[in-house]
Amino acid sequence: MRYLLFALGLWLPLSLQAAEKLNVVTSFSILADLTREVGGDHIDLINLVDADADAHLYEPSPDDAKALLRADLIIANGLGFEPWLERVLASSEPSGKRINASAGVVPLMLNEDGERVPDPHAWQSLTNAEIYVRNIAKALGELDPAHRDVYDERRDAYLTRLHALLKKADAQIASLPPSQRKVVTSHDAFGYLGQAWQLEFIAPQGLSTHDEPSAADVASLIRQIRSEGVRAVFVENIRDPRLIEQIADEAGATVGGTLYSDALASEGPASTYLGMFEHNLDTLMAALKP
Ligand code: ZN
Repeated sequence: MRYLLFALGLWLPLSLQAAEKLNVVTSFSILADLTREVGGDHIDLINLVDADADAHLYEPSPDDAKALLRADLIIANGLGFEPWLERVLASSEPSGKRINASAGVVPLMLNEDGERVPDPHAWQSLTNAEIYVRNIAKALGELDPAHRDVYDERRDAYLTRLHALLKKADAQIASLPPSQRKVVTSHDAFGYLGQAWQLEFIAPQGLSTHDEPSAADVASLIRQIRSEGVRAVFVENIRDPRLIEQIADEAGATVGGTLYSDALASEGPASTYLGMFEHNLDTLMAALKP
């Protein structure tokens, strides 16, 4: 009997603790990091599109569908970034709450194949990332009011770090002359970064990575790099670097390094959102500063 009580005593608190944790699913690595920062040990998190992977081309697995069915909270980017998630959710109709972390962001509208569409890559602005973090903390606090104070505290601590990086970015980018603000990347993932700091990002591929650029697009980009004296050409972690290397080579430009666009790095400093942003900032500055 004593043994049974002892065993129950061990088992009960553990199972209660486990049951109390929110099951959260995030669509891609950047949201996973922001959500872990806010949720800490109080949530069980499953992330769908891994670090260094391309969310535009993602095919969800049966395990992903199961995780979505079990989730108390599903956190997506929104702005048309995850069409594959919409398809799974439409067919499985999970009961968990669904939020778009980008809710409240002012979308950058672009022309894509003759249509006006929102640019989904809103996380490439730190000001928008603050909106993401606030949305995530609010959703966690609503679903798990017992830990709302913890989520709010963790949110505020994170935003203090984010604001420090914002200050650094403002100061560094402000020092760039107007003539040195043109950047070439693989696909149009940095519109919000460009908008926030008056940098012009040019890419052979559009907002998504679905369509390969035509030979004419590539030739026109090479001419533009030559005629405008663009010095900074970058590969992206989620894309095959060969096209950009070929463009840089033919335009007589050098590849300034790797920018993290739609996914964190699997390891190293760019494996967190703030680390990724700082890596991109430092890499851009090293190539652009006079
Ligand atoms: Zn993208």
